[in-house]
Amino acid sequence: MASQDQRTADKVDLIADDLSSLVIHPDEELATTLAKVSRTPSSGFGVFATQDIPKGALIAVESAVISIPAVPDEQAAIEFCKALHQISKANLARLQSLSLDPLAWNSVSGDSVRSRIWQWCEDNLASNQGGQRKSHHELSILVDHTCRCYGIFLTNNLETGSNSGRGVYPFFSRMNHSCRPDIYEFFDTKTKELSLRAIHDIKAGDQIHSTYVDLLQPRKKRQKTLEAWGFTCQCPACTNQTFDALGERAVELDDMLEEYLFYHDDFSSDTDDDHEPFLKGPDEALGVAQELIQLLKDQGIYGESLYHTYWSASKLGVEVDDLQLALGYAREAREIEVCCVGPDRKLSDDDTVEWISYLESQIEHANENGSLSARLAHQEYEEYDPSSP
Ligand SMILES: [Zn+2]
Repeated sequence: MASQDQRTADKVDLIADDLSSLVIHPDEELATTLAKVSRTPSSGFGVFATQDIPKGALIAVESAVISIPAVPDEQAAIEFCKALHQISKANLARLQSLSLDPLAWNSVSGDSVRSRIWQWCEDNLASNQGGQRKSHHELSILVDHTCRCYGIFLTNNLETGSNSGRGVYPFFSRMNHSCRPDIYEFFDTKTKELSLRAIHDIKAGDQIHSTYVDLLQPRKKRQKTLEAWGFTCQCPACTNQTFDALGERAVELDDMLEEYLFYHDDFSSDTDDDHEPFLKGPDEALGVAQELIQLLKDQGIYGESLYHTYWSASKLGVEVDDLQLALGYAREAREIEVCCVGPDRKLSDDDTVEWISYLESQIEHANENGSLSARLAHQEYEEYDPSSP
């Protein structure tokens, strides 16, 4: 383990160092042996499977090379300056090896962001290590360097949840986008690590894609969002016109289902809203959930959307008094959860394992006693407190 002195010495003096010596090759220090970073014919770098990767396999776990807390956009540059000041040489090299989008560079080198960064550098880094004041020229080099690094940060950062802020994960950053991604990325708020798992079988040599956008939106909206990265997506979902109609219907069904569930969750509380949901009862809502499940599967959309739809279908199964159906959907939701985040983590606040064992025990109970109202079982579950003995 490095001593405190060594660690301090390892920090970067952005002026004193010859930064060109810090550039590392993207293949160095990879987070995984299942995949590697290589050049692609068209999109710079990409990540490719080095062997067959089965669905659910953990491809990589990585920590951020730099991260900032959740702050409003106008404060992000200052938080970035503070974080950059603390970065190790190795992590700076990793950050610098990533791409810088011209659009991000334009916004960072513009007057307002640059002047904020200048001010911070002047207030905090104006003296050299010997206590001597930096010249205007030295400060200007430092600000340019910080701006460039911030541009790289903006190009590559991942938002890790509303309270966790944003970070750059270099291996994950090398993945190109597809609206039909090959992995699910999961940020663990306790360990602060990002894990990447295969959501279907990947063949050796295939490129591994992540998604940069919410998949459950029409192609035009996805492409509008992707303009920020400066490319037009050519994935199967964007080039095959038949997916468009399926996608638009899926969005419509998802909205109807969400509205129904929101309305019914809120039903018992006082509300002035006299708006009634489009779907009139649990039978209709279950029908919509089932159609949505089929559409998502037909389109090859796996992950959170499908998980949530199965979860809703399971709850609605109970509403229509069909515990077996509810159990089947709960197990489907659990299978997706395990594939995306592994057996020991949860994909949402809901506890699928507890819900499944509850449904199983209710079904067993019903078998022993002849009949049971599933609705009653549901009510009991809502009142059930697993922490009480
Ligand atoms: Zn696409």
